[in-house]
Amino acid sequence: MNDLSKNYINGEWVAWSGETIDVHESGTGEVIARVPASGREEMEQAVAAADAAFESWSESTLEQRIKVLEQLHAGLKERAPEIAETVCREVGMPIKLATAIQAGMPATVTKTYLKMLPDFPFTEQSGNSEVQYAPVGVVGCITPWNYPLHQVILKIVPAIAAGCTVVLKPSEIAPQSAYILADILDGTDLPKGVFNLVCGLGHTVGDTLIKHPDVRMVSFTGSTRTGHLIAHAAADDFKRIALEMGGKSASVVLPDADLAAAVKGTVNNCLLNSGQTCTALTRLLVPADKHDEACELAAAAVAKMTPGNPLDETTRLGPLASGQQRDRVIDYIKLGIEEGATLVAGGPEAPEGCNPGGFFVRPTVFGNVKPDSRIAQEEIFGPVLSIISYTDEAEAIRIANGTPYGLSGAVWSGDADRAKRVAGKLRTGQVFVNGGAFNPVAPFGGFGHSGIGREFGKWGLEEFLEVRSLQL
Ligand code: NAD
Repeated sequence: MNDLSKNYINGEWVAWSGETIDVHESGTGEVIARVPASGREEMEQAVAAADAAFESWSESTLEQRIKVLEQLHAGLKERAPEIAETVCREVGMPIKLATAIQAGMPATVTKTYLKMLPDFPFTEQSGNSEVQYAPVGVVGCITPWNYPLHQVILKIVPAIAAGCTVVLKPSEIAPQSAYILADILDGTDLPKGVFNLVCGLGHTVGDTLIKHPDVRMVSFTGSTRTGHLIAHAAADDFKRIALEMGGKSASVVLPDADLAAAVKGTVNNCLLNSGQTCTALTRLLVPADKHDEACELAAAAVAKMTPGNPLDETTRLGPLASGQQRDRVIDYIKLGIEEGATLVAGGPEAPEGCNPGGFFVRPTVFGNVKPDSRIAQEEIFGPVLSIISYTDEAEAIRIANGTPYGLSGAVWSGDADRAKRVAGKLRTGQVFVNGGAFNPVAPFGGFGHSGIGREFGKWGLEEFLEVRSLQL
């Protein structure tokens, strides 16, 4: 059992002796760690430390910031196996994926900012004005459990690079990698108070953070429900917000597409991290005359994804992150059956051969799903794919755009120009065309209820900068 009963405030590990939160191993249900259910006072102390450190860090040189990020990058690389195993156990992410996305991606993202920083135009000329990009101030970072370290890195690296100071409140369900990160940063030249970590529940320490008058920006990744609360709280004193929220992304298969490749690509994407991915392609839109064939192909693809122990190198589908999430997903599978969709694969019963204490769900495919049914409209956040048929391109686009979300999407066609044209009609922050690869320097974020602001690349850095012009 990891004893993590402390917070990291003003460059010190501060012991906590109050109530704690249990962290569970997803594959077994066992308690593997305890973290503080900190009080509002700890959050106040962390914000005060970040506020006190701001003036000096905001004036730090580019060389100082680059040095710290280089040290962070080296630490992430060195501790990659520990990070991967930690996230694998607490989230249930298969170890191969955890190694690539939880250990690999944070180092990759840090590297992209290291490459960008020397040439980033923190000042530029416009007519007779010098335009300056100044750090926003103290930033409150609030993150979810599904890709826990990756989501933290996407915030704190550009925030620190911009000259901001940070208070991080990680997910109480998957907080352990944030402790590894704090430990790495503790060993760098980052001045005291620039990075602070407070662990606890959303409605206590999270609430204090989003409402604190000395916090000038809240950068949040999580559910649309919590995003609403943050937007309302921020409105009271005009805090800047960056919100990365939920999705219900559509994979649009045009009639001239390679159906087998499109279905395989969509199923793999939908089931990534057991469907606990904000960009998951959870709606597969196919021409009506290809619906049944698409169902057969999807069922065959899902049959190869047997849930298993996430620590096993060969496992491609692990458990869900918590018992609560498992129950929620099972309720949605039951709802799909009640709504009259055709159960093509999977179902609400527990999968065979898995540890009964773990949070496993059978990968499930529904056919004949109505576009306005709840399983086609609401984010399930589990391994559940809905296949929806359409009659023509215009209807496919209407269905794809027919949810409040707008995070991601995919278009598949044998004609590259047609695919690009249709992709341009999707009201989403990114679209994958014929299986295009993920790009860590492309902007990432949502339209509508999926978000405000962008992460990754220069767009991610600009979120943490205010613009000032000097008329000369
Ligand atoms: P959540 O909204 O329940 O929790 C996210 C964070 O917000 C946690 O740290 C939580 O403690 C905190 N929080 C909860 N209530 C709060 C409050 N009242 N005040 C302040 N903070 C509060 O989300 P989750 O269940 O952890 O994560 C899953 C969600 O995250 C899904 O909807 C998913 O789509 C979304 N997500 C979005 C992206 C993206 O980039 N768009 C990426 C990953 C996950």
